[in-house]
Order: sequence, then structure tokens, then C-alpha cells
Amino acid sequence: MKPESVDYADEITCPYCQYVDDESWQMTEEEYDDFECANCGKLFDVVRHLTIRYSSKPKDVEGVDENGDNYSYAAD
Ligand SMILES: [Zn+2]
Repeated sequence: MKPESVDYADEITCPYCQYVDDESWQMTEEEYDDFECANCGKLFDVVRHLTIRYSSKPKDVEGVDENGDNYSYAAD
């Protein structure tokens, strides 16, 4: 089977045997080049893509909602 690049996978996936390394997050930057497949032992290169997401939440608030009910919530 011809090895093929694997792009934007959730985990590091071996292009030779399709083995999925579910401990990808533990990898250090020095391991990006010549990453060794834990299954077949072949070496390949890895690029980590970072996705940034944002969360927002209200601070402590008290008020009246659109139904006229009082509400209050506290920040964690
Ligand atoms: Zn492999």
C-alpha cells in the first residue's frame, strides 16, 4: 500500500500503517521531525496545527429576564 499524507487528523496518524497515536498531545516539539510510529516503527514528519477557540461568560449578574423573572448567576 502506498503511504499517503494524513492532514488535519485529530491525532497523529501514521501515513504508512494508519496507526493512530492517541497520546499525540504528549509529544514535544523535538519529536515533530522523525516521529516514530509506535506500531510499524517507520519514521515520518509531523506538523501540529493549533486551533484557537474562545469562551465567554457573564460575570456576576442579577436582573430581570425577558419573562419578567428575577435571575442571578455567579461566576465560577
Ligand atoms: Zn505505522
